Amino acid sequence: MRFCPLCGGPIERRIPAGDTRTRDCCGRCGHVHYVNPRPVVGTIPVWRDQVLLCRRAIEPRYGKWTLPAGFMEIGESTAQGAQRETLEEAGARVRLGPLFTMLDVPHVEQVHIFFLAELLDLNFAPGAESLEARLFREPEIPWEELAFRTVATTLQLYFADLRAGRFGIHTREILPATSGER
Ligand SMILES: [Zn+2]
Repeated sequence: MRFCPLCGGPIERRIPAGDTRTRDCCGRCGHVHYVNPRPVVGTIPVWRDQVLLCRRAIEPRYGKWTLPAGFMEIGESTAQGAQRETLEEAGARVRLGPLFTMLDVPHVEQVHIFFLAELLDLNFAPGAESLEARLFREPEIPWEELAFRTVATTLQLYFADLRAGRFGIHTREILPATSGER
């Protein structure tokens, strides 16, 4: 950021009084522009032994498969955001279950939150941000073609819990990718 969004004054990088981190501060009006992590919310939509995935029609990871998920909007809860994204990306109506994963991704300034969900019917259809939406059994999951490691981690944990016969709440920290990983 070069100019203040409030007054157009020049931005200075400095530690505001009483703070401990360097921030973008306006040299004219003194406004401090805080930047904080953004929550991404989504679901694991399940129909019997199958999970619904969407193939992305947008960058990043165009053409790769993902669970329906996206950035929270102002004024909604995490649960509402997860249901909204599921409807928008997969055209799918779900009965939302409990929280399943909360994955910190500090290097991209995000937290990814996934809820268990049951499809209410099979009338799903890809939304504007998806090329395709379809159900996968575990052996069919395109592990090498998944868009994000948070999705791969969530699916691995889902199938592990499914085999174990009990679903927990899982937290992980996703570290920066080494070469070849996402
Ligand atoms: Zn200003």
